[in-house]
Amino acid sequence: MDRERFEMVHRWSSAALLMVAIAGVTASGQNSKAKYRKSPAGYSDTPILPGQKWKVHDIDRPRPPVVTPGANAGSPPSDAIVLFDGKDLSKWVKQAKAGWKVENGYVEVVGGSGDLVTREKFGDIQLHVEWASPVEITGDSQWRGNSGILIMSRYEIQVLDSYNNRTYADGQAAAIYGQWPPLVNASRKPGEWQTYDIIFEKPRFEAGKLAQPAYVTVIHNGVVAQHHQKIIGQMAHRIVKPYEPHPVEEPLALQDHDTPVRYRNIWVRRM
Ligand code: MG
Repeated sequence: MDRERFEMVHRWSSAALLMVAIAGVTASGQNSKAKYRKSPAGYSDTPILPGQKWKVHDIDRPRPPVVTPGANAGSPPSDAIVLFDGKDLSKWVKQAKAGWKVENGYVEVVGGSGDLVTREKFGDIQLHVEWASPVEITGDSQWRGNSGILIMSRYEIQVLDSYNNRTYADGQAAAIYGQWPPLVNASRKPGEWQTYDIIFEKPRFEAGKLAQPAYVTVIHNGVVAQHHQKIIGQMAHRIVKPYEPHPVEEPLALQDHDTPVRYRNIWVRRM
């Protein structure tokens, strides 16, 4: 269709649609009279996409699986593995389970229990976690609501009460602990529930050597705190700890740093 004709048709159809819409609104209070329009479900006469085997808008390209999203923001979608729904720790291994306290829909760190570790192992994941640091402030810097999300049991996204709390930048909330500060400090006040949405790509090892590092994206309370950040190595305090080869899936853990941090609504999706 040439441009002039396209514009004419476009103007005409826009005007017609507007009239139909106005008529619909007038008659029933809602837009119910819009004309039903059809468009192709795909094409087979289009060019091949560079680096792909599919054509542009390929009619034969498999459609992605359907996932029913959670009822509310933060609720688990239909294909998520729910690790903690506020009731029990059946998805977690025994040792620490005895210590960590489940009540009122959350689980609370009891110092000295040890890290809470999942039964199942994971590699590339999307992870949702909600946490709250204690209302009562009983220390400073790293002694304010310290815990952590230990991905593959060794890469830590720091959990810390970072609301008006001066500490080293690579150790505050949403930091890749000891490596990268968050882009911003989006912390809520002590006692308020906070969210992490984490997208993690596991490291790749070949012949006992690092072939590709891990990457992580962290959204803290809806704000991007890490943007596809390259992880330098394993979590460590005061040192740089390089990668060491490990299996392609490892348990997820929540850190016991001897402060009563609370967690709820924890779910994960394999990618
Ligand atoms: Mg920590």
